[in-house]
Amino acid sequence: MKNFFFILFFLGLSIVNSQVVVEEANPPVKIPLKLSGNFGELRSSGFHSGIDIKTLGKEGVEIKSIDDGYISRISISLSGFGKAIYVTHPNGFTSVYAHLSRFNENIEKLIQAFQYQKKSYVINKFFKKDEFIISKDDIIGFSGNTGSSFGPHLHFEIRKSSENLPINPLRFGYPIEDTIPPTIRGLFLYKIGDKFNKRKKIKIRRISSNTFQSEPIRSNGSFGFGVISDDRQNNSYNINGTYNYKLIKNGSTEFEIEFDNFSFDEKALQMKLMDYGYYVDKKSRLIKIFNEAGLKTSFIKSKNSGVIDIAENDSIKIKIILSDYSNNKTQVNINLIGTNDSLDYYYDDFSDFNSLIKKSEDFNFYDNGAEVKIKKNTFNNDTFLDIKYTSDTLYIVNPKVYTFKGIEVLIPQKVLNSKQTYIANLDDQGNKIFAGHTKIKNNFKFKTNNLGKFYEDIDSIAPTIKQLNRKNKISFQIKDDETGVKKYDVFINGNWYLFEYEPKRNEIFCSLNSLEIFEKEINIKVVVEDLVGNRKTLIKRLTLW
Ligand SMILES: [Zn+2]
Repeated sequence: MKNFFFILFFLGLSIVNSQVVVEEANPPVKIPLKLSGNFGELRSSGFHSGIDIKTLGKEGVEIKSIDDGYISRISISLSGFGKAIYVTHPNGFTSVYAHLSRFNENIEKLIQAFQYQKKSYVINKFFKKDEFIISKDDIIGFSGNTGSSFGPHLHFEIRKSSENLPINPLRFGYPIEDTIPPTIRGLFLYKIGDKFNKRKKIKIRRISSNTFQSEPIRSNGSFGFGVISDDRQNNSYNINGTYNYKLIKNGSTEFEIEFDNFSFDEKALQMKLMDYGYYVDKKSRLIKIFNEAGLKTSFIKSKNSGVIDIAENDSIKIKIILSDYSNNKTQVNINLIGTNDSLDYYYDDFSDFNSLIKKSEDFNFYDNGAEVKIKKNTFNNDTFLDIKYTSDTLYIVNPKVYTFKGIEVLIPQKVLNSKQTYIANLDDQGNKIFAGHTKIKNNFKFKTNNLGKFYEDIDSIAPTIKQLNRKNKISFQIKDDETGVKKYDVFINGNWYLFEYEPKRNEIFCSLNSLEIFEKEINIKVVVEDLVGNRKTLIKRLTLW
């Protein structure tokens, strides 16, 4: 009898703790694990492929290898991961540590040799197996804020090495206290089978701590549901993404999304699962718990589409369950009642735009020498665009759509024989960015993922260079207001020197220690070039001590 309860007890435990721990590994930091982002979370660049670990609000926290292995890649980029290190482990996984401020001393020396060889701060270097062995808990670098990071933290990933497939790092059993269920911030009803993306906000009220009841929905036809939801853990205030979304129809699971792994090819699919138009309007990510488009992905767990059909006089009970990784749940109950009522929906009507782009067909536009080539599947649905070429301006307009493929554009040059002209793109928010400046036979030719207004502009102003006062560092502010900095070089006494670049601060810098220069005075030359090739050179004599 005693044994029987003992077995029951263990069975119970294994049911509660249903998440499978794939492999054991140490955490990448010594400090307690607190997350400011979790796996699969919706981001502007697509699903988040790792977890963001808080680093006490500062840079310089020691980063450790989670297991034995070898360094397989080091990359330094101005955006994205910034300074990142990849360690491949014998158990078939690769761990990735990104936005670092610097690497450990040995790695730093090794990488600098490559940077000097290439005369470039930006580098992407792969290493062979066993070229650079790392042991579990070795300090490989220090946390930072480099690349597309806007606040110090460690972006940490675990990938299946063979397929370069990011998996949820929480599957490695990292201890993160979490007793707080996901939060539901909005419930939406979608009318399916209409050419417009028709949605309606549904009122919900709390009926017990983690359970909500929606207002009854009375109508008939095909419907889908969408939610705005987020989640947080006990020891950090940061708002993260929800791990699992489940739609249950009359007691059986109809649709399920779960973020355990996905491939980098699927990263952009977020824009199909998310209501992109809603995001443009409200800057809030509304996820559809149905698969109208028939997407086949690793994070959609169900065969069914999640589209619910209701006939008159029928009635269906729907449950939406949101769960986090520790299995805390929030539930919404919905009663769908089949009637002949029609409901009021919100939708964007762009049907007066002059061109209908069929999702499954290529589309070409020609007018007075201007060309636009849109490949099939550039948009998620059949999409209306306003395309026209008037007074030397090319319009490709729809403020509410996401482009999944680059659009090929050709615009005749207005000003001939000028190196400083380029095509600017003005989006619906009034942001002006550089779109392209490659010239072929008196035409600008470029590919763009942005819609909006395209016109020829001129950048005749060279970048600016200003010396900054920084302790133990040589530092310059480099800036270019019109098209942006493309390239910079620093020469000391005639030799090229490695300077780091932090575009977020418009700053290039080098620590005096790493210079290994023993003269009191040096000649320094800084050359900065913008995207159309305007150059600025600053020559100075500097006293170092
Ligand atoms: Zn991240």
